[in-house]
Amino acid sequence: MCSSDLYQPIIRVCDGQMSGLEALIRWNDPERGRIAPDLFIPLAEATNLIRPIGRWVLREACRQMNAWTTTHPGLARLDIAVNISGRQLSHGGLLGEVQAALRDFNLPARQLILEVTESSLIHDLPTAVNQLRELRELGVRIAIDDFGTGNSSLGQLQALPVDILKIDRALLQAMIGTRSGAAVVQSVVELGRALHLGVVAEGIETAVQAAEFGRISPEGLAQGFLFTRPLDPLDLEREW
Ligand code: C2E
Ligand code: CA
Ligand code: CA
Repeated sequence: MCSSDLYQPIIRVCDGQMSGLEALIRWNDPERGRIAPDLFIPLAEATNLIRPIGRWVLREACRQMNAWTTTHPGLARLDIAVNISGRQLSHGGLLGEVQAALRDFNLPARQLILEVTESSLIHDLPTAVNQLRELRELGVRIAIDDFGTGNSSLGQLQALPVDILKIDRALLQAMIGTRSGAAVVQSVVELGRALHLGVVAEGIETAVQAAEFGRISPEGLAQGFLFTRPLDPLDLEREW
């Protein structure tokens, strides 16, 4: 397939250490070069191509993690996060694909995180909840991506089988400069604590944002251009 995965580190706020990586797909077009997912994922979703693409991303991320832990055994503590679209969730085959990828690349289920957005869940909530429940029974963790931008209610969140909230970049931007913006992030962090969910701040671009999020959530994780942009595996390895 003419695509590649970039990987963006996810950082522990308390000590700056990497806790995991998120796989982010790019389409390599011979003429136009590397195409960002926002341009082709919606098309892939509309044409059902998302299933083979999603399967490829999942298997490639597990293969890459296995290769890294073989050459650098210390990396076995890192999580690998893969984005899953609503179409993949509403199709019954996802569980088997995840089982196969974990088995074929000898990856412990605990190391894999599947990221789903709130909006991808609401189309067929009962099916999505069942799938997520079965995936969690394997030991895989589930993250709600772009949290704070969707329209699911807090009552719904409580019923969802999830482990991690990824706070959307927009909320982290609004956190600086307004007391209400900081209060919103604080509330999400407290919600995470109350429900025993991990919290990740997305799109951290400035040291001021990192410091403010660290004050609100010393136990939290963060991801963003301030730490590292999404990188090719070879460029990432040069940083280790
Ligand atoms: P996402 O899952 O929310 O991924 C985070 C996006 O934010 C990535 O964009 C990343 O490059 C970007 N980002 C990271 N740090 C910063 C920052 O500090 N500032 C700013 N402005 N942006 C930052 P990317 O790679 O273009 O991906 C866009 C979206 O495409 C993803 O959003 C995700 O929804 C989707 N996507 C990416 N890969 C896949 C995939 O394999 N499968 C599916 N279904 N969707 C994918
Ligand atoms: Ca994501
Ligand atoms: Ca996100």
